[in-house]
Parts: sequence; structure tokens; C-alpha cells
Amino acid sequence: MILVVVEHEAGTVDRLSSEALTLGRTLAGAVGDPLQAVVWGPSAAATAGPLGAAVVGTVHEIADPRLADYAPEALGKALAQLIDRDAPTAVIGTGSERGAEVLAHAAAHLGVPLAANVIEIRPGEPWQVTRQRWGGSLLEEARLDGSVRLLTVAPHAFAPVSASATGAPATVQPFAPDLTDRDFRVRITSHVPAEEGAISLADARVVVGGGRGVGSAEGFAQLDELAALLGGTVGVSRVVTSAGWRPHAQQVGQTGTRIAPDLYIACGISGAIQHMVGARSAKAILAINTDRDAPMVTRATYAVIGDLHTVLPAIIAAVRAAR
Ligand code: FAD
Repeated sequence: MILVVVEHEAGTVDRLSSEALTLGRTLAGAVGDPLQAVVWGPSAAATAGPLGAAVVGTVHEIADPRLADYAPEALGKALAQLIDRDAPTAVIGTGSERGAEVLAHAAAHLGVPLAANVIEIRPGEPWQVTRQRWGGSLLEEARLDGSVRLLTVAPHAFAPVSASATGAPATVQPFAPDLTDRDFRVRITSHVPAEEGAISLADARVVVGGGRGVGSAEGFAQLDELAALLGGTVGVSRVVTSAGWRPHAQQVGQTGTRIAPDLYIACGISGAIQHMVGARSAKAILAINTDRDAPMVTRATYAVIGDLHTVLPAIIAAVRAAR
């Protein structure tokens, strides 16, 4: 069995899990194993429909009311218990911070290696994987030992899984883990709700990015306006979050969010490697920069050389006029 660890929001499978399912389905076909998934939390059973369409036969629902929210140690232990019981050939998690954390705990419980940020698997004797390191600037060829192969998938290395027209809902099988209160030492204790109608950076089709060149927190008003006009959201460089102009949740890059929009409009961002790691999956980049030699400009699909505070109002006016 190939087991995919699926994260979801109220039963809607998240994008990185959908990408992990693409790899899971290919791998299951290659080794001739059935594809199964493991989920937890409220509305977990609602994933049965979309997972069935992704050709998952069985969904294991980790059933413990204390897992209503994220608790990495408890989830890692529960996953290890499920792996112990069912002995899957491989377990695939997402390359999100949560996916990596849960699989790392499971690997420690089982005493087996974990290959993180994998982009290719070659099953055989032994299994071999290619994985991204250093934010994707280095590719590593590795051998993956262990009775069960644990791995996470590099974000945006695969397309989200395509749905099968004939897929019946997956069968949901509850799994009761043996957990103690001590396993819940690390858990979510409160939530800060996202702004009403806010679009998540990771899923946005358009991201308007701002860097040091924006000049101040107030300077972001034009970026906010353009993002709202285009149905997108604002992302920023680390300089911007370090200056306290915008929250860290909006940071794009190695130590921020990895984005994969159709269009990334990068305003006053130089394009340092640590930033590009998070933006390399953008389908097109429009760079707005005063420096024609900035790395962001040389990597961009389109570029406007000029002061962003002059260029952005012109773009906003042109978009409004076109509508
Ligand atoms: P700068 O490099 O200073 O570039 C500003 C740009 O704005 C320049 O190209 C300039 O020509 C242009 N400009 C100036 N004024 C204007 C104007 N009026 N109109 C148009 N253009 C203008 N960075 C990240 O972004 N994300 C990360 O996750 C991240 N992680 C890191 C992790 C580590 C371990 C390290 C060491 C660094 C990390 N960094 C990260 C920092 C990264 O190396 C860069 O320092 C940072 O990305 C630079 O931000 P910037 O492009 O906004 O600023």
C-alpha cells in the first residue's frame, strides 16, 4: 500500500496534499500497490469524495477528539502506529512545515529515515530519490533505506491530482490511536482568523510583491489596491517583514511561503536567491524595478524599468480603464 498523508480544511483537500496524491498515484501504479490516504480532524470524512475521485480506495481517519486541531507529536505517534499496523510500502507527506514535522515525528518513532522535499522516486533495490536541498538550489540523489519509505514532496514539484470521472467515494476506516495527554504538549491553543475574504498567498493566482523599494508601510497602499483589482494578494520580501512594514505571514521565500501564481508582479524586489526560492514556481513574472540589472529583472518574463510609485498608479489606471 502507498499511504498519502492528506491535510485538509473542513474536508477540502489542500493544494500540497493534492500534489502529494499525484506522486502517490504514480508510485502506486509503478509498484502495483493500492493507494490509500490518512486524514484527521473535523470533517475528515468529507474528504472521502474528492479522495475517491483521486483513485484512493481507503481513507484512514485518525479518530481522537483531541486531534480537532494540529498537534504534531500526537499526529506523528498516531501515524507511526498506523504504519506499524498496516506496513505500507511508502508513506508520502506534503512538503509543508506541518507535513515535514508530522513525518519527522513518525520517522523518529519508527527509527527509519525520512527523505524530505522529494521530486523523483525510483523504486528498486534500493529505492532512490532525488530531493531538493537548500531551498531548491541543490538537487541531491539519495538512497532510501528502511522497511517503510517515508518521504515528503517538494512544494509545487507536481501538478495537483486530476480527478477520475468514475471514482466512487473512498471507504473511510476509523483508526483509534493510543495517545496520552503528554503527546499533546505541543498543540494549537488559539487562532487568529484571517481577514474576511482574504486570499491565501500559497493559493493566489496573482501575487503583487513588494520589497525594500516600496520604501515604507504606507507605500504598500498601491500594491494592496492593485492586488484587490486583480483578485490577488500581496507578498513581500524579508527586508519588508524585518522592517515591520508587513507581517511575516506575507513573506515569500526560503523562510517564508512558496507561491505558484499565474502572475507575480515583483515591485522593488532585487530577486535574492532566498526570495526566488519561494517565487520560482510563478508562471510569469512582471518585475518593476529602477535597476535594469537586478536579478529579478533578468529572470522576469516582463519588466518595467522605473520607479514603482510612478509605474503602479499607471497600471492601476490602465486596468480600471480596460474594465
Ligand atoms: P533589496 O535587495 O535591497 O532590493 C531592493 C530593490 O528595490 C532593488 O533591486 C532596487 O533597485 C529596487 N528599488 C529601490 N527603489 C525602487 C523604486 N522606487 N522603484 C522600483 N524599484 C526600486 N528574503 C526573502 O525575500 N525571503 C526569504 O524567505 C528570505 N530568507 C532568507 C534566509 C536566509 C538564511 C538569508 C541569509 C536571507 C534571506 N532572505 C530572504 C533575505 C534575502 O537575502 C534578501 O536580503 C532580501 O530578499 C532582499 O529584499 P529586497 O529585494 O526587498 O531588498
